[in-house]
Amino acid sequence: LSDRLEATFTKLSGQATINEVNIGIAMRDIKRALISADVNYKVVKKFVEEVRAKSLGEGVVKSVSPAQMIVKIVNDELVELMGGEHKPLDLNGSRIPAVVMVAGLQGSGKTTFCAKLARRLKKNGRHPLLVAADVYRPAAVEQLKTLGGQVDVPVYAIDEQDALKVALEGVEEARKTARDVVIVDTAGRLQVDEAMMVEAETLKEKLGPDEILFVVDAMIGQEAVNTAKIFNERLDFDGVVLTKLDGDARGGAALSIKQVVDKPIKFMSVGEKPDDLDLFYPDRMAQRILGMGDIVSFVEKAQETLDLEKTQEMQSRLLKNEFDLNDFYDQLQQLKKMGSIQGLVEMVPGLNKMIPKQDLEGLDFGPIEAIICSMTKDEKHRPEIINGSRRQRIARGSGTSVQDVNMLLKQFKEMKKMMGSVTRMTKSGRKIMPQN
Ligand code: GDP
Ligand code: MG
Repeated sequence: LSDRLEATFTKLSGQATINEVNIGIAMRDIKRALISADVNYKVVKKFVEEVRAKSLGEGVVKSVSPAQMIVKIVNDELVELMGGEHKPLDLNGSRIPAVVMVAGLQGSGKTTFCAKLARRLKKNGRHPLLVAADVYRPAAVEQLKTLGGQVDVPVYAIDEQDALKVALEGVEEARKTARDVVIVDTAGRLQVDEAMMVEAETLKEKLGPDEILFVVDAMIGQEAVNTAKIFNERLDFDGVVLTKLDGDARGGAALSIKQVVDKPIKFMSVGEKPDDLDLFYPDRMAQRILGMGDIVSFVEKAQETLDLEKTQEMQSRLLKNEFDLNDFYDQLQQLKKMGSIQGLVEMVPGLNKMIPKQDLEGLDFGPIEAIICSMTKDEKHRPEIINGSRRQRIARGSGTSVQDVNMLLKQFKEMKKMMGSVTRMTKSGRKIMPQN
């Protein structure tokens, strides 16, 4: 995927803006690339539409090329589609012990995951108990015992053919031995079958787990999505564990599964060893899928720098008392982009304390903009030259009244005076408290 996209973005570099034509070319390639990375077709379609809309709306930040900008947008969209933030395991219910039930197909990595999770919880100060409820294969019980030994967590196993009975007794055992989390390893089949589903449903109903985690092998690609869908319909699980991401699985499954079942991916397994378990972070997975983390952080930095530059520039003009209606107009434009006047107020030192929040909400800048636009360059720079006849002309030109123009000029004058006093305060403040 990464190579393909790289080629796409190379094609797009050197162009000045993101337009219908170049975004169209980019999106066609991205679509193809995502499908070849095993992302579900419906997901790809939705994804491409959203990226297209966002890219067209987005201005290209100074010092960033449209191509780099698209990478960032694609990345952000991937992150969003995979759930945005990391969703942690929720074991804070009132019941002790908390119960985690682990389900999935045979060979997906359930037993391995159980041991890894036990190790992680133990590191976090919990006292887990592993319960071997995969009762059909003696080897499965032995495997859990071995893994439990490796991570130094006790394993509850009895010679019993009823998975529910084992699980319930396991919970009882945890209570008696002061264990606060029970991790129930269940049986899987090679394919989804009715007996397995019924058993899992019974466990869910009678055990009432705090978390049901569905474990799925990322290597099985599109099939992972179908399996997830069936398990979710029957179990309504709480989260997904994606395994075998240390292989060459391209991570497309992560994107599709989240979209199709709308459940958070909570963990990813990246190897066979007890420590090879990571929390799932959508942003990291997006970068893995795209393979363009460098560009993403570059654009982020450029965006931050831009805001900082503008703020500093304005503050320095304020300090020099050079702030005029041109600046005011620029600020209004930025504000509209940011969507709140609170933003402007916060940029100006001291102003945020002087203007109560409620005065800022629901202001209409339309007439103000029109008035400023009807002024000449010189008038904007030196509003004091705006006499009576100029005021009449401006009012006519902006479709407002002379009173409106008067009001704006008066407000600007007062604002400037206030900013001047803020500036003087800041300056004298510097003298009293020299920075070293
Ligand atoms: P279960 O049948 O669902 O309990 O699956 P197991 O936990 O027994 O795992 C099946 C096989 O996959 C074992 O050989 C594991 O060592 C291996 N395995 C599990 N998780 C991972 C992983 O993240 N990466 C790799 N490479 N192998 C894994
Ligand atoms: Mg197993």
